[in-house]
Amino acid sequence: MNAASAPVNADPAELAKFGALAARWWDAEGEFKPLHDINPLRLKWINHCVPLAGQRVIDVGCGGGILAESMAALGAQVTGIDLSEKPLAVAKLHGIESGVSVAYRLASAEDTAAMEPGAYEVVTCMEMLEHVPDPASTIRACAAMARPGGHVFFSTINRNAKAFAFAIVGAEYVLNLLPRGTHEYARFITPSELAGMARDAGLEPVAFRGLSYNPLTRHHALGDDVSVNYLLHCRKSA
Ligand code: SAH
Repeated sequence: MNAASAPVNADPAELAKFGALAARWWDAEGEFKPLHDINPLRLKWINHCVPLAGQRVIDVGCGGGILAESMAALGAQVTGIDLSEKPLAVAKLHGIESGVSVAYRLASAEDTAAMEPGAYEVVTCMEMLEHVPDPASTIRACAAMARPGGHVFFSTINRNAKAFAFAIVGAEYVLNLLPRGTHEYARFITPSELAGMARDAGLEPVAFRGLSYNPLTRHHALGDDVSVNYLLHCRKSA
């Protein structure tokens, strides 16, 4: 990131927000509790779509490494990239403590795609697209990192009245599951927009899964309801 390089597709305020909370990344009862709670569900689904053991995987916007480490624990060879330094430092320290090895790098999706085109069997980009200025650029970079026939997974938040009510009002103001200001409504992405950007990037959408939260039981579940949080599995054309 020097003066001569192309403008980076990142919002410094977003990166600072995650940097400020980094020390609490692995506190399963802290600000990142929702990521801890959903991780077993998304990990199981990804591993069902493409058995991870032995695969080369890159986790884009890996933060403190919750998903990256869990994929490596299943036997994948995982690289984690993020543009916020502190979460990466936390991820590295956690890996030393847990003994699960992940290669963490401070790098953008776009730069990594230029350096390592087609290098990964699996690309994951979870809960990150709604924090970047140009999600289509991130999606193109994720597609470029996948080998032909490879698997690319995204997750983000839908944009509609229910998503506003649940993901912002409910999660940030009523239930205090997330710090206020974590999400900005205008950056939410509908499933059809995500599928369109994926197709434009040479990816074929294969399956959507909805992620729902029941505030009474405090349980998350994967299902067909994509009205708030959801995931998409794509294949890159062979
Ligand atoms: N993917 C992880 C973390 C989600 S939090 C998980 O689901 O468990 C969002 C992460 O995206 C943060 O770590 C933040 O630093 C990162 N991020 C935001 N904008 C980014 C960008 N432009 N490039 C790379 N990482 C980014």
